[in-house]
Amino acid sequence: MAGEPQADCLFCKIVAREVPATVVRETETTLAFRDINPQAPTHVLVIPKAHYPDAASLAAGAPELAADVLREAGAVAVEEKTAGSGYRVVFNTGSGAGQTVFHAHAHVLAGRGLEWPPG
Ligand code: AMP
Ligand code: ZN
Repeated sequence: MAGEPQADCLFCKIVAREVPATVVRETETTLAFRDINPQAPTHVLVIPKAHYPDAASLAAGAPELAADVLREAGAVAVEEKTAGSGYRVVFNTGSGAGQTVFHAHAHVLAGRGLEWPPG
């Protein structure tokens, strides 16, 4: 069923605390934790606790939860004191775009110059 935990999903395991993570924020519906392989001084992942494979399926299946993720991405940027200087929120979607974990997640990147267009 949409949103149900998936046994083989790394981020569902982080939500269940079966895999450790450096959690920076948590709400009833979302979790934010530091990326294990940071690409910028601030690199935090914000995920819905419920399992949706990507941002589009999250937005279609649970729009209020997609809004929670976006709100939390902003809250992370404020907490990391990067909101003033600018930050980037990225949803890689599909393996061709670099998605490797198929549980929707927003990358919050900040703390260095962020080129445009991104690579
Ligand atoms: P993506 O490539 O967009 O699917 O993003 C997946 C992200 O998850 C990558 O940036 C990885 O570095 C990160 N990642 C993988 N395993 C872990 C983990 N155990 N804890 C935190 N971040 C992770
Ligand atoms: Zn999952």
